[in-house]
Amino acid sequence: MPLYQPNLTTPVLEQFSLQGKTALVTGGSRGIGRQVVQALAEAGADVAFTYRTAEDAEQTAASIAQQTNKRIAAYHLDVTKRVDVLETFERIAKEFGNGRLDVVVANAGVCQNVPSLDYEEENWAYVNDVNYTGVMWTAAAAGKIFKRQGRGNLVITASVSANLVNVPQTQAGYNASKAAVVQLAKSLAVEWTDFARVNCVSPGYIMTEMLTRQPEDLQKLWLSQIPAKRICRPEELRGLYVFLASDAACYMTGSNIIIDGGYTLP
Ligand code: NDP
Repeated sequence: MPLYQPNLTTPVLEQFSLQGKTALVTGGSRGIGRQVVQALAEAGADVAFTYRTAEDAEQTAASIAQQTNKRIAAYHLDVTKRVDVLETFERIAKEFGNGRLDVVVANAGVCQNVPSLDYEEENWAYVNDVNYTGVMWTAAAAGKIFKRQGRGNLVITASVSANLVNVPQTQAGYNASKAAVVQLAKSLAVEWTDFARVNCVSPGYIMTEMLTRQPEDLQKLWLSQIPAKRICRPEELRGLYVFLASDAACYMTGSNIIIDGGYTLP
């Protein structure tokens, strides 16, 4: 089947609407994921999100539901566990989406600084199990549902680290995991053209806990290297995720969109 083509006479702003859609965001409890949940709901979708450690996930869901007047639900999930991911996605589709999931955002991720010669099974697995394997299980669970319903849309949070090596150069595992998901997304985009679009968002430095946990001198150094001269707020990514999730991006698949204030240009 050819890639889905929406009604081309729909006015352009209406093409961004997610009214009537059901979305699922992994790692939606804070940071970038939380903003994506809010953005998809503001665009009209009912949104389920997953969390792993957050104790306030239910309150987060209630707060976004109140602000957007959409159905928002939080589900516990560790994306590294394949069977749990498959079962949780099916459960969410059944009990939250009336059997459907239109949009899935594979966003959960972790970062750590480890000199490459110090890698052991444990710390190598810590990053790659979430950022790479976790995205594969997320994609697989989403893809099964998309194939069954004949249509779906996967957006993956990658990183500019897929393409560059930043100081302190002790993030080889993180960088490799992000490069891997960009290539994974391209492969799935080609394999799934009959029933789904697959795209990546690659942010630069975004003001979330992942960044603020880094040493202050590093944060200052990174700031000095950004042509935009400021760190991006997670709210500033919202439009891009809505775009990719919507029919406005109907011909985009296999893309990797960088949003970094010019960081990767010099
Ligand atoms: P945060 O640390 O703020 O949030 C990470 C999210 O991932 C949380 O919701 C967390 O859940 C969830 N999570 C972590 N591990 C697991 C797991 N095993 N299973 C399920 N969920 C998990 O990070 P950001 O918001 O900054 O990062 C979001 C994504 O953006 C990541 O993929 C990251 O690599 C990417 N990114 C971030 C950049 C930045 O500068 N911040 C730059 C480029 C990319 P919980 O809260 O329950 O623990």
